[in-house]
Amino acid sequence: MGKTNGKEQINSVPISRFQIDPLLSAFDQDQTLLTPNHRSAKVIMQGYANKKKVGEVWSRPQVFAIDIWLQQLWAKLSINGIEPFCKLQILDSFSEQCVWTEQLKASAERYPLLNLQETAAAVSYSYHLYNQWFLFEKLKPGDTKYSQNFSAFLYWSQRYKSFLEKHELIGLSDAILILIPSLHELVRFLPSRMLLVNFNDPPPLYARLIGTLEDLLEVSYHTRNTPGISSKTKPDEWQPNLNSVKRLQFPNLDTEIRACVSYSLERVRVNENEHIGIIIDHEKEHDFLLWKEFNRQAGHRNGDLSPTKAQYFNTFSSIQSLADAKPIELALSFLELNQTRIETHKFCHLLQCHQFALGGEELSARISLELLLRNNFSSTTRLGHLQSVMQREGKPYYCPHLSILLTKFSELSRRSKDFLPLSAWAELFTRQLELIGWPRFKSEDYLQWQKSLYQLSRTSSIVGKLDITGALRQLRLLLYQTPRPIIFNDELQISLVSLDEALDFDFDSLWLISADDQRLPCSISPDTFLPLSIQQEYDMPRSSYKLQLKQANLILTRLQQDTHEFILSHHKYEGDLEIRPSPLSSSIALSPIADIGSTKNLANPLNPVEFEYIQEPLCLPLTSVIGTGGTSLLSNQSNCPFKAFATHRLGAQKLPNLQPGLDAMNRGSALHLALEKLSTKLNHQEKILESSAATRQKFIDESIEPAIEQMHKQHPDVMTPTFSNLERIRLSNLLNSFLEFELSRSPFLVQGTEQQITWDHSLLSLNFRVDRIDKLNDGSLVLIDYKSGKKSSYRWFDDRPDDLQLPLYQLAIGSDITHISGAFIYQVNIEKVTLAGATDKEDLHPDIKPLAQVRLFDGTWADLQERWNSIVIAMAAEFEKGLLAVAPARGNQTCQYCDLSSLCRINDQKNLLDEQDELTP
Ligand code: SF4
Repeated sequence: MGKTNGKEQINSVPISRFQIDPLLSAFDQDQTLLTPNHRSAKVIMQGYANKKKVGEVWSRPQVFAIDIWLQQLWAKLSINGIEPFCKLQILDSFSEQCVWTEQLKASAERYPLLNLQETAAAVSYSYHLYNQWFLFEKLKPGDTKYSQNFSAFLYWSQRYKSFLEKHELIGLSDAILILIPSLHELVRFLPSRMLLVNFNDPPPLYARLIGTLEDLLEVSYHTRNTPGISSKTKPDEWQPNLNSVKRLQFPNLDTEIRACVSYSLERVRVNENEHIGIIIDHEKEHDFLLWKEFNRQAGHRNGDLSPTKAQYFNTFSSIQSLADAKPIELALSFLELNQTRIETHKFCHLLQCHQFALGGEELSARISLELLLRNNFSSTTRLGHLQSVMQREGKPYYCPHLSILLTKFSELSRRSKDFLPLSAWAELFTRQLELIGWPRFKSEDYLQWQKSLYQLSRTSSIVGKLDITGALRQLRLLLYQTPRPIIFNDELQISLVSLDEALDFDFDSLWLISADDQRLPCSISPDTFLPLSIQQEYDMPRSSYKLQLKQANLILTRLQQDTHEFILSHHKYEGDLEIRPSPLSSSIALSPIADIGSTKNLANPLNPVEFEYIQEPLCLPLTSVIGTGGTSLLSNQSNCPFKAFATHRLGAQKLPNLQPGLDAMNRGSALHLALEKLSTKLNHQEKILESSAATRQKFIDESIEPAIEQMHKQHPDVMTPTFSNLERIRLSNLLNSFLEFELSRSPFLVQGTEQQITWDHSLLSLNFRVDRIDKLNDGSLVLIDYKSGKKSSYRWFDDRPDDLQLPLYQLAIGSDITHISGAFIYQVNIEKVTLAGATDKEDLHPDIKPLAQVRLFDGTWADLQERWNSIVIAMAAEFEKGLLAVAPARGNQTCQYCDLSSLCRINDQKNLLDEQDELTP
């Protein structure tokens, strides 16, 4: 059944992805077929299976990737007790990398490295190239003309070999080097006939192996022809067949992807047995972009790009690692609870999860626990501390069952020894996960997980005994290196392939995306550790432009063969950057986009997503008194009516981020408290003037202590003695700068601090505190609010100010006190201490301009008060009316400081408008 475009159909003829017919006689004669890689072997097997009738019983043909065949041969020789094969065990790739990592670690004093694992992977690759090109025969180790990198490589290689020798292990390329000269004596273990498929230009080591096999058995070849490649006039140059090859240019990648999907779906619709290839670049995330576009054009809203669920197309190399799979991520998060300190945000994810023993049990208590953790905990914590919190009976976050489960979980590791081999840790992890009820469903990812744990156990002898942190590190590394299993869906007609992968298949039509000068030919990326001159001399992979060009010509020549329509597309711009088309396609004239199948219908995709337009009410009036929200309720209303509605009527808020250490809010409120205490002690400018430096410092120190105590209460884990001292120094510096500023002001007396006010207006009853009220020499009062942030513009003179705090203060207090002469923000941070606000007074401070000198406002302090009062009343009325328009006062600038964009969906609205603009001629 084919279902790629939403219709269902019967495939009477299977989709032909590979011409299997030329190989059938080899199967009949029971020959062994070798391919250069697993992918080719799988494709051949699939093609062979397609030839068989439904229900027919057939034995598995002998088709192997050459490396697998060699390992099997080694195992056979070993079982038969033949030396040295029975003495040496071939390493799998992860074990090999562990050996390299250990050797790099042991030589850290001589060659210090920042990233051991990545370097180990790179050295391991270089080592195989070194063997495959027989460089040990060609390079003299003492030659000083080679770089430091190469001498480090030789040193590590020596250590690697010694380690393997000692532990009776061997890497694959070394194993081939041993096998080749021994094959003459091992003929009885070899098949009598062998067919090598698609071995084009193998590395010298494999070429020598194949040469030896040719001497001993009947070896034949199956290779695709490359007509045109050996043209006498221009050797190695691709000759595009202008009857089948077309070149398209698009303005950007989005339109290129859209056209490609539209074209592919149309071909699927027209011919249900065609094999359609799309050649992508994994590094540019083409697969993700294509999947999104297929979703859009096929009318699906919730697709799944997971390689275990082929939905629109088959892929052949997994872009995701096993660690990226959701169930595996969950298992790792559970196992990380074994660490002394755990990451609070990961624990919060576990609290939301249903996929373990508790399922949905205690869910609402778990949600309350998460909110508590996000509001009061720092980014890391101890499991024991969390358990003591969740055991608090009567609290909304009381989770007794979860606590018991976690106790049993930790007991399993507590009973183990501190240092164990990886095999023992793998067993413990399995038991812990079973206890926790993981996994709930046994998927392909789970089967791969089991294989990975087995592989982890096999590295025990290489890495020795580890503590639990080391064992988890090894496990994580292995899971990141293991690709997620890929499921092949035989019903799908579209294949997403890389340039190399494309060579394994036959296509009816082929579309190469991003055929630009970076990709065709690919830019060079020589090996890091081997001398570049040697790599170029021996034509080692990706070492020179000449080689890349030759490779690109070869690939294009092979691809155009047997493909009825071959499209090379590219786009002109990536952001502001102009992209050049591939020089290999310059001889092909640009085709008009409308000529290419259904791409002329780009504006009308096959299955467009139907939007349903719903007219929401513009207002939902307030029906009862609202007593929460303080001054922010009106400031939010002024910034964006929807923001105020969502925050104060719906109770929407962003989940607080868990940060390492103290966040800006903790620090700000600590400073606030210290300023309040200091202003109470030194409540008169004269008093500050008269006190000595030592007395001022004493007052500062005394004011800081309650702030430190407050932070300690909130974050006992963070506020260690050292950290507390650092905070003391920070606050002391700020308070000293603050006092200096106080001295530069005109005389004042602190009349009051933290004055509690309630403003009752219609259905609003807003409570807030005025940080400080100062009395000036003329008896008038100024209102002050402390701020530790760096915001400098509050738009007080706009119709919708950013901040209505000062306007509301003066209105609410003004009804009791009539002689207010100004309102200010007292900004105190490490960059500066200053006052900003509005007044008519000229001598308050050199930083403060009287309103008469302010360009943005034409009037006096009394005029401004009147204006502010009317704005505050208007915003209150708007809120009561329940206006819920998504209307940020200053567009993007307002949204930049708002966390509700996923709720108001202003970005969707903008995208929709942009799309409509794009489609409007
Ligand atoms: S993101 Fe912008 S439009 Fe959306 S609620 Fe916030 S301020 Fe309003």
